[in-house]
Amino acid sequence: MKQADLLVGNEYAFQTYKSYNAAPLAARVRIVSVDGRGKATVRVVDPGKKPPKNAWGARPVKRNEQVQVATRDIVCPWDEWADRAASIDADLAARAAKQREWWDDIERQQADRLVVNPERALPEEYDEEHVYAETDADERAALGKEYIKARGLGIYATPDKLTPLLVDLPVLVLRDILATNPHRRIGSADTVAATFMRSAELLEQARVAAMDRHGHASGDIPQPDRLLGEADIAFVDAIHENIAVSGGELLLPPVPALPDWVDEHERSMAPSFGWLRLAVGDTSGERLHSPGCRSVRSRHVLEADHMPWWLLMLEKPQRLCGRCDGPGVRDLVPMAGFVAAVDVWHARGRDRIERWQQATFQRLLSTAAAARTQMLEPDITLTWRIVAALTDNAPGENGWAAYAAVAATRWNRFDEELGKLTPPELEAARVVARDRLTTLAEALPSSQRPLPLPQAADLNVLRQRYTHLKKLLQDTVPQLDRLLFTLPGAI
Ligand SMILES: [Zn+2]
Repeated sequence: MKQADLLVGNEYAFQTYKSYNAAPLAARVRIVSVDGRGKATVRVVDPGKKPPKNAWGARPVKRNEQVQVATRDIVCPWDEWADRAASIDADLAARAAKQREWWDDIERQQADRLVVNPERALPEEYDEEHVYAETDADERAALGKEYIKARGLGIYATPDKLTPLLVDLPVLVLRDILATNPHRRIGSADTVAATFMRSAELLEQARVAAMDRHGHASGDIPQPDRLLGEADIAFVDAIHENIAVSGGELLLPPVPALPDWVDEHERSMAPSFGWLRLAVGDTSGERLHSPGCRSVRSRHVLEADHMPWWLLMLEKPQRLCGRCDGPGVRDLVPMAGFVAAVDVWHARGRDRIERWQQATFQRLLSTAAAARTQMLEPDITLTWRIVAALTDNAPGENGWAAYAAVAATRWNRFDEELGKLTPPELEAARVVARDRLTTLAEALPSSQRPLPLPQAADLNVLRQRYTHLKKLLQDTVPQLDRLLFTLPGAI
């Protein structure tokens, strides 16, 4: 209070302690004298509640004590003190309540971050502005436990075994992947449970595949043509467009043009995904298996041999194992991330691509590059060159006669076929055969390239050349005969 307002003999509230979160404590004092310079001498009528011991800024007083105090510590006339204290209390309580609400809100948001909820509507956005390394690691560890719960793994898994699956994707995306039904029941539309089915299955396949490193039966490893479809191609196109809008370009590993006899669906996937790595199971047999196939023992999918998908597209269908349908996707975890990005993009009406979504595609590309690094496979292989060279100007219907002309032996019946040709037809077949064998030879590196065939090379020379090249390339190029001669209708 102001010194001028103080009256000697009247009683006032003198503040003995002011705490941060409660009304100040006050003693009841009577003014003995007003001393000037902001001071007054008072006698303590009632010391009031004692301030906490050693509290900072506390000014404890004793009953009947006479002390000089600062007049600014005299709060108000004593009969007003009760009301004033009550109103300070009310203000403080209101402020505390507001703060508590704010914290509760934050806590609720934090807690919700890891709640696996199948009915959750697909969020508008998954990108987060800030990701703190420590929190992020904690949340991923917590998701490991959620994974065990969501898939009912019980004692069959420990959270650390799940760590390799719960990487790269934003935590909230992983949380929503776990909300899918483990029995493949698709949730109600527009929920996360409906959106993330493909990625959830891939993660689960990756988990199962990782469990059994040495034996067989390490799970169904999906074939890319069953897994991927129109939306995936459209998404890759959209990424290309996005990047082009800002003046850049994303280069994919080159995939050669493929001949017409390759399955049409697969051929349509080749420009966008032909470079994907497929894992091949170990076998000494003729057939190609996936590392998860029950009919072969195999190494873990990431330790098995692998090849680009376009190369498998050229194989005879009979070469693919009927049980496992042949080699499957190698990099299951990055692939799970990619299909999650596509499915979210599609569910949102294909309208925009978040940062994490583009990242999944680039990650798939870099995983494929890392896999190739292991086997020192260059961007363009000899097989690539040969396929590209032979796909150009393939002979179509004319190929059969040319094939018969070079492949005739004592043991097949091609000689008979050739006998039915008129001399001009036979000459045409010879020309086609010579051209094709020349094209093939020109695709070879100079160290392996035979001498050029003369224009007039006769059938015997062509047959020798054909036999030589076929032997040279038997382990390099699948279906060399079809690449050379098309052979429409052949199976
Ligand atoms: Zn198989």
